[in-house]
Amino acid sequence: MPKKTKYIFVTGGVISGLGKGITAASIAKLLKSRGISVNLQKCDPYLNMDAGLLNPREHGECFVTFDGAETDLDLGHYERFIDQELDHKSSLMSGKVLYNLIQDERAGKFDGDDVQIIPHLTNAIQDYITKAGKGFDVHIVEIGGTVGDYESLSFIEAIRELGIKLGLENCVYIHVVYLPFINTSKEIKTKPAQNSIRDLRGLGIQPNILICRSEDKFKNHRIIQKINLFSGVAQERIAIVPNAKSIYQIPLLLKEFGIDKQVLNLLGLKETKPDLRQWEEMIVLANKKFQRKIKVGIIAKYLDNADTYLSVFEALRSAALWNNTNIEICWVDAAGIEAGNYDLEKLKSFDGILVPGGFGTSALEGKIQAAQYALKNNIPYLGLCLGLQMGVIAAARNAGLKKATSFEIDPKSNEQIIITMEDQRGKELTGGTMRLGNYECKISKDTLVSKLYKTNRVIERHRHRGECNPKFTSSFQKWGLRICGINPQSKLVEIVEGVDHKFFVGTQFHPEFKSRPTRPHPLFVGFIKSMIDK
Ligand code: GLN
Repeated sequence: MPKKTKYIFVTGGVISGLGKGITAASIAKLLKSRGISVNLQKCDPYLNMDAGLLNPREHGECFVTFDGAETDLDLGHYERFIDQELDHKSSLMSGKVLYNLIQDERAGKFDGDDVQIIPHLTNAIQDYITKAGKGFDVHIVEIGGTVGDYESLSFIEAIRELGIKLGLENCVYIHVVYLPFINTSKEIKTKPAQNSIRDLRGLGIQPNILICRSEDKFKNHRIIQKINLFSGVAQERIAIVPNAKSIYQIPLLLKEFGIDKQVLNLLGLKETKPDLRQWEEMIVLANKKFQRKIKVGIIAKYLDNADTYLSVFEALRSAALWNNTNIEICWVDAAGIEAGNYDLEKLKSFDGILVPGGFGTSALEGKIQAAQYALKNNIPYLGLCLGLQMGVIAAARNAGLKKATSFEIDPKSNEQIIITMEDQRGKELTGGTMRLGNYECKISKDTLVSKLYKTNRVIERHRHRGECNPKFTSSFQKWGLRICGINPQSKLVEIVEGVDHKFFVGTQFHPEFKSRPTRPHPLFVGFIKSMIDK
């Protein structure tokens, strides 16, 4: 008989940004550490089809799954917490459900019925959820937004109904709320949480577990008693979770409250022994003050939101901590460099320079200048996707090809070192059409990159339209570059490294998506090590 999947639904109230995603990921981590197979899914009420066209400045990075889905950054958290690759089914936006529903209507699949929010839309959502959960012991579904939002109503209704269809004994509802601290009266207030739980109950869902976020740790038993009284949630199923120094501590905090045991108990699952040793070791390192500290400059377009480059930051941090090094990540305004408002000599203060991925025309010249500087001054450089492209242009310019450019900077130039891939022409403004997800890369022997990877074949995740122009690749050697990774099918250049340079590596893919807190990506490790050796 196929395994019956149990479900956990995570909703949030009071305000957004409370860490529902981290809560969902933490519970998944705790269950997985006990040998239970888990999947995670994020349901986003936006009317977009996916996260591909969302502005990363506002919404944070677009995370790419191995099968090429452009998703919300929470999927990155999920993958990092449970060290498991998730597929496109783990990200569901309203637009996708509606689009398919209307297509079915046009195809006459409803037999003349009125097509309605209930049951057609809610059934469709349930279908997506149960398909993603199939085959796993436990499937954890996070509903984006806050309860009471107009746009998330159909998702809330869908998970309410699912509880009835699957049996409430197979489902756990977790609600994440906020307990504000009023400084003037030195009081923790429960009223906003009460209101939010009332909203949730008004929509027909009685939460089983409450995660109460607070600014600080507090031991006020009366507060828990009070929450218990108004919510009907047992005291041992209420956790008070203060702001943590690192998000990776949250699973341990929830474990302290026994939330994982409560989940097992509610779902009728056996209580096996958890193994969190490596995770705990990582947290000890993450909080340690090492003798060594390095400073990395990120040459970026968006300076005000670290979430824009979330996976990059996480990959840098984990590579640093496993090499017993503290890391400071500093923003460098690429537009400032371009406008001549930034003295390039200041780049010398960094142990390494990183140019992350990006799109559009703005600030590209600033990125090229930073890469030129890194090349000339033997400063370790890691270029990710756009960072490879700007790195190659920098090398060409340093070698005298002053007009070297890319399809994004000058679409008409004959000296485009980076061109639009053949099959991408004309698709520039369309969603979901880039070269996305996993592609193979063959690594050349006796290169720095092959030493780091310790293998001659890797699979990495992509999201781009441009490639190195084959017309110029024979000049790379002259420019001091070596092509050390290519895609065996399309022959597309996947990795480039500097020849006489301490560490100059550019990848057409995004290694940051495969880096893990306990298993940092080898290229990030190499980058960090090159800075330590300095
Ligand atoms: N804009 C570039 C391209 O489409 C780089 C993309 C990226 O950095 N992800 O090729």
